[in-house]
Amino acid sequence: MPKRKLGIEIKRSGRLDNENDVVIPVASDLLKVEGIPTRDAEVSYYSREFPLESFAVTESASAIWSEKERNKVSPETSRLYKAYQDEIMPWVQKIRDVSTKLPTSQKVSSNITELVKDKAKELGYGEVGFTKFDRRYIYSSRKDEVKRDLPNAICLAYEQDFIRTQTIPSLDAERAQGDAYLEQAKLSLKLSEFLLSIGYRSQISGPVWHFGPLIPMFVQSGLGQLGVNGQLLSPHFGSRARLQILITDAPLEHDVPIDYGIYKLCETCQICFMRCPGKAIQAQRVWYRGVEKNKLIHRRCRPVMTRYSGCGICIKVCPVQKYGMAEVMNHYLETGEILGKGTENLEGYEIPGKGYFPPGKVPAFDREFFDMPTGSEEEIALSDFNNAMDLSSDLTDNEKEEIWREFQNRLMNDREKKTTIVDMGMDINI
Ligand code: SF4
Ligand code: SF4
Repeated sequence: MPKRKLGIEIKRSGRLDNENDVVIPVASDLLKVEGIPTRDAEVSYYSREFPLESFAVTESASAIWSEKERNKVSPETSRLYKAYQDEIMPWVQKIRDVSTKLPTSQKVSSNITELVKDKAKELGYGEVGFTKFDRRYIYSSRKDEVKRDLPNAICLAYEQDFIRTQTIPSLDAERAQGDAYLEQAKLSLKLSEFLLSIGYRSQISGPVWHFGPLIPMFVQSGLGQLGVNGQLLSPHFGSRARLQILITDAPLEHDVPIDYGIYKLCETCQICFMRCPGKAIQAQRVWYRGVEKNKLIHRRCRPVMTRYSGCGICIKVCPVQKYGMAEVMNHYLETGEILGKGTENLEGYEIPGKGYFPPGKVPAFDREFFDMPTGSEEEIALSDFNNAMDLSSDLTDNEKEEIWREFQNRLMNDREKKTTIVDMGMDINI
């Protein structure tokens, strides 16, 4: 006799092109909201009055700090990131060039949604959905580059390798992430070619160079819900999904947001919050820019990511990532419990140099561990320059000249850094 009453059953097509459909049973006590709790007027207000910007731009000082620190504490991670950057950058350029390409045939006028979905699945994407492209989610520095006449968004999730992801935090898991990004880059170029061949243009957001945050449109197109860990929990592979959006003028039928029960499941689960070594995930949800979510504390997360192979423990310990949504929801329906909670298999992790941490135990760090600059490198360089010049009456002309030269060098360095990918391919500052 199941412990919980069945609320709804959600049918999703298989993870791969040739796999059977999957049924996700959601217990009635987990039903709360389709998608993410959102106050639409507030989303519009914030996007107008306080436009979004990429972390790579607003937090460039900590990205530069991170690179130097990583070189010091983990040169092998630095080498991996550098090799990844060399490999992916030509693909990023090809992706950005897609916006200039024109259709190679007349417009196909029927079954377009089916055609695009089938093609994306055939290419290897695990989750495919459609929605209106929401321009409120464009970074202000990228607004001019995003075409205005491509109104529809194709949301594409690609699965990062399962086995290597379970070794988080590790270089192997970082490689798995880089491999997924590289594969996505290649597949999205093929999908854009396909769109041109049926008469439609497109532009691609991700990997590495994004128009803006992608999760809101994935949720809107029914491909999952937002987890406490700040990631999209997609039906087949939870937070192991690597996300990408193609915008297009192809007339596509839009999907709708779905309540998979994640909002309430997360309230009971809380594993990512408890297992985060940096205590970087806030316990309570807050309203932020019109959306209700658990905020991530960047200054608690980046120092851990920098020193321990990109961390990612909040991905690894999520049961939806590890077992899939159908398994987790079935288990909850039968037992009223979270699959894997309290087990070493799900919650245990090893941090190089710190040891193994079973459920209930997390590493401790000194306060100084979290010291890092915040804000943009330009702001910090200017503030240092102003502080130094405040003392200028006591300085010789040579010393003033030296301060000026150092300020210029920092700005030049920052400009060069704009072509460096932040961490393992999150974004680039151009
Ligand atoms: S990446 Fe690591 S430190 Fe950052 S939120 Fe996730 S678990 Fe916490
Ligand atoms: S670990 Fe638990 S609380 Fe965190 S995102 Fe996954 S399901 Fe939600």
